[in-house]
Amino acid sequence: MPLAVVASRALQGLHAPAVQVEVHLSGGLPAFCIVGLPEAEVREARERVRSALLNSSLPFPSSRRIVVNLAPADLPKESGRFDLPIALGLLAAQRAFDPARLQAHEFAGELSLSGELRPVRGALPMLCAAREPGTRVLLPLASAREAALADPDAVLGARHLSDVVAYLCGRLESGELRVAAPSPAVAPPAPDLREVRGQAEARRALEVAAAGSHHLLLVGPPGSGKTMLAQRLHGLLPALSREQALQSAAMLSLAGHFDPAAWGRRSLRSPHHASSAAALLGGLGGGVLRPGEISLAHHGVLFLDELPEFERRALEGLREPLESCRVHLARAAQRTELPADFQLVAAMNPCPCGQLGNPARECRCSAQQVARYRARLSGPLLDRIDLRVEVPAQAPAQLLELPPGEPSAAVAARVRAAAELQQRRQGTSNARLEGAQLEGHCGLARAERAWLAGALERLGASARCAHRVLRVARTLADLGGAPTLTREHLAEALQLRRALGGA
Ligand SMILES: [Zn+2]
Repeated sequence: MPLAVVASRALQGLHAPAVQVEVHLSGGLPAFCIVGLPEAEVREARERVRSALLNSSLPFPSSRRIVVNLAPADLPKESGRFDLPIALGLLAAQRAFDPARLQAHEFAGELSLSGELRPVRGALPMLCAAREPGTRVLLPLASAREAALADPDAVLGARHLSDVVAYLCGRLESGELRVAAPSPAVAPPAPDLREVRGQAEARRALEVAAAGSHHLLLVGPPGSGKTMLAQRLHGLLPALSREQALQSAAMLSLAGHFDPAAWGRRSLRSPHHASSAAALLGGLGGGVLRPGEISLAHHGVLFLDELPEFERRALEGLREPLESCRVHLARAAQRTELPADFQLVAAMNPCPCGQLGNPARECRCSAQQVARYRARLSGPLLDRIDLRVEVPAQAPAQLLELPPGEPSAAVAARVRAAAELQQRRQGTSNARLEGAQLEGHCGLARAERAWLAGALERLGASARCAHRVLRVARTLADLGGAPTLTREHLAEALQLRRALGGA
C-alpha cells in the first residue's frame, strides 16, 4: 500500500509540537483530500503543492486518489508550512526516492507555484523544541539561517524543492545544504544623549531607569525634549546575554519579524497610539497566535509616546505584563501565554493642550479636562511605573546657552557597571527584586525606615509603593557605589516618582 509519513511541526505559542504528515495513494476516483486543515487553506495548499511538483518536473499522481492526513487533529495548523512535507510525502509514496531517507528528518516550508521554498514563521522555536538526538531539520534557506542560531549542526537549508529531492535521492550531500547562523549585528549609530541640553532631572531618571530596568514616564509640554530623551534609553542599555538574545529572536521569529541583520540587539518597539489593544498586547485570530508589541519588545524597550492617547483596553492590558513579565491571551476555548519582559518608557503631555505649567505659553484646558485626560491612566497602571518625572519647557534662548549634554557612551558605562553589580549580587535587576531578596538587598536601618514611613504617609501612599521606592533607591545606591541605602537615596527615589502627583 503506497503510504508515506513525513515529520513536521506546528506552532503553538512559542512551542512547536510534532505533526505527522501521512500521505496515502489508492485507486478509485482521482481526488486530492487533505484532512486536518481548515477548508479554505486546503484548497490553497493543494494548488501550491500540485503546481510546485509539476513545475519542478517531479511526478504528481493525478490519476490516483490522494489522502493527506495531518495528525494530531487538534493542533492549530497554518497550511503554508506543511507544503514541503506534503510534497515530499507524495513523492515518497510514489517511490520517487527511498522513503527510508525521510527518517531522522523534519521538514517545514511553503512552496511557490514554481517550487521555490518560502520562509515560514517560527523556525527558531522549531529548533528549540525537543527532538530525537541526531534529527535534522530541513527548512527554506532564510528560515534555516534563523534556526541555525539555536543549533547550526541540526539545520539544513534549501532554496528549491528540487534541491530537497536531490538531497533525498542522494545526489546532493548534506554539507551542501549546511547554513551559517548570522553573526551578531553591529549596532547602527543610535541617537546620542549629547544632543539633549539641560533637563538634568530627566537625564538622571533615564540613567536610573537603564541601570535598574525600571519603567519610566516622562511628562512635559511638546518640544521639551521628552521624546528625544525617551528615544535614547535603548542606547544606554547593556548588551543581551546569549540566552536573552535567543529568546528575543524566537519571539520575533514567531511573528515572522526576525531580521538577521539585527541579531543579538535589543529590540526597540514604538507602536503608534492608534494601535489596537490586540496589536499592542497580542491576540489569537483564526487559530493563529499574533504576538503583540509587548512580546516583540521581549528583553528590549517598548516606547509609548502620547501614552494617554492609547485606547483604554490597551492601557489596562499593560498592567499584568508590567507586573509578571508575561501576557495571557484567550479567545473562545483557546488560551495561551507569551513572555513579555520589556522595559517601558512612555511620554505624555501634562494636559490635552500640552502647555500646563509652561511659563511661556498659556494652557487653555479646564481643570475638568485636565483631570479627565490624566484619569485615562489608572492608579494601578501608574503605580507600576517606578520613575515618573517632569520635563519642563525650556526657552529657546536659554537652550542655546546650555552646553551639550554628557554623551551616551559615558552614561552607558555607568549603567553597565551598575547592571553587572546587580547580576553578581542577586542574578536579576533591581526592578525585579521580590520578597526575601527585596528585604535582603534593600534593608533599612531603623531611622531610615521611620523616615520613609513618615514620608509615604504624608503622600498617602500604599505599602506596595514602599517596595517600589526601595527598588529605585537600591539602583541609586548602586550607581553611587554605596553598599547600604541612605536617606538621600530614599529622598531621591521619592523625588523621581513625583510627576502626576504623589507617590
Ligand atoms: Zn492645557
